[in-house]
Amino acid sequence: MAQRLIVIGGDAAGMSAASQARRRRNRDDLEIVVFERGHFTSYSACGIPYWISGLVPGPEHLIARAPETFRTKFDIDVRMRHEVTAIDLERREVVARDLDNGGEVSERFDELMYATGATPTKPSWAQVDVAGVFGMQTLDDGAALRDWLDAEPQPRRAVVVGGGYIGVEMAEAMIQRGLSVTLVEQAAQPMSTVDEDMAELVADAMRGLGITIRTGLAVTGLDQRDGRVSAVVTAEGPIPTDVVVLGLGVRPNVGLAEAAGLPLGPTGAIRVDRRMRVPGFPGVWAAGDCVETLHRVSGMPVYVPLGTHANKQGRVAGVNIGGGYATFTGVIGTAVTKVCELEVGRTGLRERDASAAGFDFVSVIAESTNRAGYYPGARPMTVKLIAERPSGRLLGAQIVGWSEAAKRIDTLAVALWNGMTVDDMTALDLGYAPPYAPVWDPVLIAARKAVDALAALDR
Ligand SMILES: Cc1cc2nc3c(=O)[nH]c(=O)nc-3n(C[C@H](O)[C@H](O)[C@H](O)COP(=O)(O)OP(=O)(O)OC[C@H]3O[C@@H](n4cnc5c(N)ncnc54)[C@H](O)[C@@H]3O)c2cc1C
Repeated sequence: MAQRLIVIGGDAAGMSAASQARRRRNRDDLEIVVFERGHFTSYSACGIPYWISGLVPGPEHLIARAPETFRTKFDIDVRMRHEVTAIDLERREVVARDLDNGGEVSERFDELMYATGATPTKPSWAQVDVAGVFGMQTLDDGAALRDWLDAEPQPRRAVVVGGGYIGVEMAEAMIQRGLSVTLVEQAAQPMSTVDEDMAELVADAMRGLGITIRTGLAVTGLDQRDGRVSAVVTAEGPIPTDVVVLGLGVRPNVGLAEAAGLPLGPTGAIRVDRRMRVPGFPGVWAAGDCVETLHRVSGMPVYVPLGTHANKQGRVAGVNIGGGYATFTGVIGTAVTKVCELEVGRTGLRERDASAAGFDFVSVIAESTNRAGYYPGARPMTVKLIAERPSGRLLGAQIVGWSEAAKRIDTLAVALWNGMTVDDMTALDLGYAPPYAPVWDPVLIAARKAVDALAALDR
């Protein structure tokens, strides 16, 4: 009899695992059933801000593979609008509810892939029955916001609460749609994924785009008129708005796992080993935004809910479920984003992470340009490096600048992944031609500056 794999969650991690398992084991050997509570499979949540802004014309462009493709081409039994409500690890069964037609089904499994993603943080003040307040996690969330923005009376003012990368991208989307946008952030700066000095550059650019930024301010409630949001309430008074987007981060969606007795780590996400197995539970796998992973620089468990990791981890789980061998060996915290033309990249540890991990370090900031200064279109680029003292090993890097800034972080990520010192980096053979870089690339200038800073301290 064929074994059976049940997958909970039909997006990046779940469908990568299902497809990889299918590539290695045919239907006679492994039946695969996927339960997805939403309307879409294998979609790019990362593209939602660009659909909201209008840059991407419709949600269909964000879907890599529809349920029907999985059914016909991959022989995977995809059950849409089915929400798994319980896992019984002893009986090796899941219970799923049909959200459209009612009713429940129980399905047995030999292998279980837990890939339920994350849930947007929704504070108690947002958990009220007021229309016009949106979390942003799935295409269904994106569709609900699009409908609200397109319907009459058309919103003219938006408040984005929280200045993480999703909040920043959503603020950009709203401003591009012509709304007047206020971003409210409790911390001193939006974009806390980079150090404050770098975040200040991002905040300045956002203000330059016409986004009002209110920092050090918490939203504590909502005002409404006829059931529609009319303002967010803060200690400094109400901020009138027609739509509220929550960008307060996400937490791992682990309710079912917890109820079933699967182990959570210190971050609150599911613990897995490097093959994406849940330790102590043979045949149970987990991947994506619901799991924690190892930070290769700090050596600590971290929760980094990003699509790039979800896809890789899902693939690793699927290869292993399929009988192959693959591992996911941790992350270094590389991420890129943009706000209109301003690009932001980061990798490794920020100053506060390096301190928390007990490193002695120096940090330097180097100002340069993306192209030769005389070449048309040359724009400023700021590179920050954090290097261990006295070894000089690169611990972290951040870049803020205009075109060609964000993806330069990949050079630094590779250097960091391979344990290079800033001294090694000064000799890197990076490409140079005036349209692409000054003769000393911004990365090399920053590395030289870090070498000088280390030498000055040891003099
Ligand atoms: C606006 C936005 C922008 C982003 N931009 C980037 C980016 O630029 N780069 C990047 O790397 N990452 C980005 N991300 C993050 C990225 O989208 C996620 O890390 C990725 O989608 C995680 O994949 P996942 O499969 O783990 O979880 P998800 O994509 O959340 O999928 C989980 C699925 O499980 C389903 N599900 C949950 N519970 C159940 C249940 N009980 N029964 C059945 N189905 C269930 C959900 O409906 C969902 O479809 C962005 C996210 C958002 C929201």
